[in-house]
Amino acid sequence: MNDPRPSEHHYTPFVNDAYQTAHKWGMKMSEVQISAPPEQPKPKSNCFMVGGITCLVIFVLLVGLGFWLFKQLSGNSMIKKAFGGAKLVAECQLNMANPSSDQCIYAALERYNTKYGRYPQKLGELYPTFLEKRSVLHCPADPSPKDTISYEYTPPAETAPANTIMVECNRHILIEGQAPLVLKLQKDGQVLKPNYATSGGPVDQPKPGN
Ligand SMILES: [Zn+2]
Repeated sequence: MNDPRPSEHHYTPFVNDAYQTAHKWGMKMSEVQISAPPEQPKPKSNCFMVGGITCLVIFVLLVGLGFWLFKQLSGNSMIKKAFGGAKLVAECQLNMANPSSDQCIYAALERYNTKYGRYPQKLGELYPTFLEKRSVLHCPADPSPKDTISYEYTPPAETAPANTIMVECNRHILIEGQAPLVLKLQKDGQVLKPNYATSGGPVDQPKPGN
């Protein structure tokens, strides 16, 4: 009844032990099960790995979602237009007054004024003596031919105050069916963008004037 032989579920840790067990009890090697080598304690980094893989999966999913959203949004012509519109406003502003270049309308008007003691009657007079590139006189949002002067210009009197508007651009229709954003260049070189957020988009409330 009491079979002293190891049961078939008996595990011995190593092959050598198994051989000895088989030999001792007249068993075939196949009857003795050899257990796997004792397990090493799992390194701590295993947890990190699992966490890392989970994070990676979430990251990939988020990137995918972001890409999908971007495609959806960039396919939306209104949003596309708003982004493009903000870029054109920025470029137009640099045409009017560019602190890091003398190739802007403001600097050219000043050079003209310095030379003749008055402002020109037309912006076209600035090119080519005071403006190297005629393209500066063309607003990037203006769909008409590139050599068209897009800006409305009112020659200021020599004694006019600093906040006198010299140049205006009304080519920026940011929202379909609404009045265009009008950029205004003051005599002192400041560019005003009424109803336009500093972050680069249209706003409902006008900025408090200063
Ligand atoms: Zn413009």
